[in-house]
Amino acid sequence: MECIFCKIVNREVSADIVYEDEKIIAFKDIKPKAPVHLLIVPKKHIASVNHVEIEDKELMGDLILTAQKIARNMKLEGYNLQVNIGRTAGQIIDHLHIHLLSENLKI
Ligand code: AMP
Ligand code: ZN
Repeated sequence: MECIFCKIVNREVSADIVYEDEKIIAFKDIKPKAPVHLLIVPKKHIASVNHVEIEDKELMGDLILTAQKIARNMKLEGYNLQVNIGRTAGQIIDHLHIHLLSENLKI
């Protein structure tokens, strides 16, 4: 398997994992663009949003709910979710992921 995010899922590559369940993993971005920069990733290899199928409908909802759960647990006051689709939009890793970015934690 070539995919770096599949390798993280399979523990062949290490990552700073902050959340995991049977379908989803979330870890810190290796090159953070904000004080909080996480990647929320389905364990199933889906190349991009353009490759999502009807059978993935529930999983897509679970990704958003996981983002919400992580943000709540981290007491993030506000945050951005970003999904890049395609090279011209900045997608480098061809395994679907949601960027969770935040500037501040609520103390
Ligand atoms: P994208 O440009 O949307 O495909 O985002 C890919 C993101 O993955 C970038 O922000 C990279 O910094 C990040 N990234 C690449 N390799 C790793 C890795 N091994 N562990 C954590 N984040 C990574
Ligand atoms: Zn993959």
